[in-house]
Amino acid sequence: MRTVMAKADVGDDVYREDPTVNRLESLAAEMLAKEDAIFAPSGTQTNLLALLTHCERGDEYIVGQYAHTYRYEGGGAAVLGSIQPQPLDFEEDGTLDLSKVSQLIKPDDIHFARTRLLCLENTQAGMALPLAYLRAAAAFCRDHQIKAHLDGARIFNAAAKGNVSVADIACHFESVSVCLSKGLGAPAGSLLCAGKDQIRRARRWRKVLGGGMRQAGILAAGGIYALENNVDRLAEDHANAALLAAGLGRIEELTVHSTGTQTNMVFIQAGNVGEEELPSFLAQRAIMVLGGKTIRLVTHMDVSEPDIRLVIASFEEFFSGKRASQTDTADSQARG
Ligand SMILES: *Cc1c(COP(=O)(O)O)cnc(C)c1O
Repeated sequence: MRTVMAKADVGDDVYREDPTVNRLESLAAEMLAKEDAIFAPSGTQTNLLALLTHCERGDEYIVGQYAHTYRYEGGGAAVLGSIQPQPLDFEEDGTLDLSKVSQLIKPDDIHFARTRLLCLENTQAGMALPLAYLRAAAAFCRDHQIKAHLDGARIFNAAAKGNVSVADIACHFESVSVCLSKGLGAPAGSLLCAGKDQIRRARRWRKVLGGGMRQAGILAAGGIYALENNVDRLAEDHANAALLAAGLGRIEELTVHSTGTQTNMVFIQAGNVGEEELPSFLAQRAIMVLGGKTIRLVTHMDVSEPDIRLVIASFEEFFSGKRASQTDTADSQARG
């Protein structure tokens, strides 16, 4: 990837003259079976481009309470677009219950913001949304005359899990945001894929947001490499996550949340352990996990199967150490 990036043909992408960016945008549009695509520095920006092109000031989008497009993007839609979010809880399987969504769609009345858009996320917390649900959501949006956007930061993981093409998922949405810098392993960049007219409007907004990059072909070359070489191997990450979930599941102090639709993420809870205790123990072994009450573990292309076995062994070491110290305490209390 670094070699093709170093050798990339470049031009000024603000004038649409960078051949490598143009090639990446066509490739992504073709893979997702959309008319056009636009390359941007981050997924936060491609999601924002979608919101700004679907909604205007005083409009509203319906979104999951823990969705990236609501909770983790600095409130960009409100800050920069005067667009109001209407969040609701995700269901256990990462979907939004359409009957609950229908309750939230506002009637045409001056008291209310205008509901314009439903925003879904796939994968959501590592779960691939069922295709039947996506089909139902698309029909729901048509019936209610609202648009649908997919935060498909990890859409390639969802496609690999469901054994379908990304186009089979993307066809249920007007627009889809795709990250090159997550499981696909490029250093930076995301794409918004949608109809020609929406992408034309997104180009203006990208400029406004300061996301117009000049010789961006160097980054785009990494993205093309990722799409051509790093998609088929995602199943390995999923197998590694399953191995990790099974291994951690054998440790009695751990609760492992795993579902049949999980991809490259494992979520665990560790009973009576301090929130930072386990992450800092693991960090000493160069294992980085996102701490908190629930710990998120993500497998990716730089983590091999032997690495996973080492991670499991490190968890076992941590808990057997804890058990030993508890036994010592109990013994000394008994003696005392
Ligand atoms: C990572 C991610 C994004 C985009 O994040 P950036 O860091 O801005 O590229 C959006 N949605 C989801 C679900 C993500 O995981």
